Amino acid sequence: MSISQLARSVAESPTLALNEEARILRERGEPVINLSIGEPKNKAPITAILSSAAKLTSGNVKYTPADGLPSLKKAIIRYMEENYDRMVAPENVIVSAGAKQSIFNILFTILNPQDEVIILAPYWVSYPEIVKMCYGIPVIVTPEDGSFHPRMEDIEAAVSSYTKAIIINSPNNPSGCVFSDEFISQIVEFCERKKIYLIADDIYHKLVFDGIKAAPAYRFTNKDLESTMVIVVNGVSKLYGMTGFRIGWVVASRKLVEVMTNIQAQTSSCTSEILQAAAEGALMGMQNIVETLRLTIENNRNVVMQELSSFNGVRVIKPAGTFYVLPDFRAYVPSAVAKNSVELSKFLLKKALVVTVPGKEFGMEGHLRLSYSGSVKDITTGIERMKWALDTQAPNEIYIGDRKLIRDWL
Ligand code: PMP
Repeated sequence: MSISQLARSVAESPTLALNEEARILRERGEPVINLSIGEPKNKAPITAILSSAAKLTSGNVKYTPADGLPSLKKAIIRYMEENYDRMVAPENVIVSAGAKQSIFNILFTILNPQDEVIILAPYWVSYPEIVKMCYGIPVIVTPEDGSFHPRMEDIEAAVSSYTKAIIINSPNNPSGCVFSDEFISQIVEFCERKKIYLIADDIYHKLVFDGIKAAPAYRFTNKDLESTMVIVVNGVSKLYGMTGFRIGWVVASRKLVEVMTNIQAQTSSCTSEILQAAAEGALMGMQNIVETLRLTIENNRNVVMQELSSFNGVRVIKPAGTFYVLPDFRAYVPSAVAKNSVELSKFLLKKALVVTVPGKEFGMEGHLRLSYSGSVKDITTGIERMKWALDTQAPNEIYIGDRKLIRDWL
């Protein structure tokens, strides 16, 4: 079978693949705990359900403009005003099938073959793959100091004449790190000066803890929408627990939005009208559901920290946002059980029926990403099982479902 070189170079999405593996095991009746997927458990907001149901029952479901329903774009404009203090025009907004497609559209629009995109490790798994799909070259920058916070000097050292864009994601998937205001201001200033696009993936921007705020990049530029290098990506997946509705958007200059619209018109025509109606319902409805979710997740973060702090040899940086934590398991890799984080993750699934994501997928070998977007019970039971599987000081017997298991490999 003939498959293009480019298509072959694109890796499978490890998080979606792990999620599928967990689903299959669960269908077989296995008591799997899934700490891999990043999606809140809450139901979609009632205003989202009602507005999409009304659209559906009208039976009048048609193409929308390629860049999105005007009424949804209006809701996004209001969201930008309320949350970013920015007045934007409808021509500055394009709605897509999730922030993932938004990011693809941006990169497809700005990259020439061999252009470089700077990606800050630890990074969301899809960034390098999407860059490659647009014939670009991902350039990974890893903080030298072992922290999860990027440093300007490392970024500046990686910039070349081919650098077209830098992607920032704060609060960060997978580390939960919220980048400092100082860093955001420096990188905005740098990108404006060097004419490098700064793609701010703000998909988790309100999921922040301990009273801190994630500074929006727009705050640090006085350029208008048509001349700034800042491009903002957001969506309803994470803050409203609407991952399955697949609605994201980009705010950028009119020129970029116009070209992205052409690309979208030639690929998917538009996003489903029903799902756009749902997103509009969420954005126009009561916003306290976002705060309720945030409080639940902050509590989960506290539980995860408490459980990990008594895990022998595991080092963990406290997440300040998102619903992920990226503990350092180098005490357990390489070891008798695993040579690397991929093997460690497989080992934990096989022995303890806990799904985790290997740090390697995020550019942080030796770590595992755990999601605490699920229930407190999943978090406590999941980590208890991990301790049982790895830590000689943990009791060597455990019940998994109704099976009593004995650790006999350490
Ligand atoms: N950016 C980041 C950092 C993410 O973690 C995700 C989802 N995992 C996305 C974008 C994509 O979100 P969506 O569901 O809107 O495509």
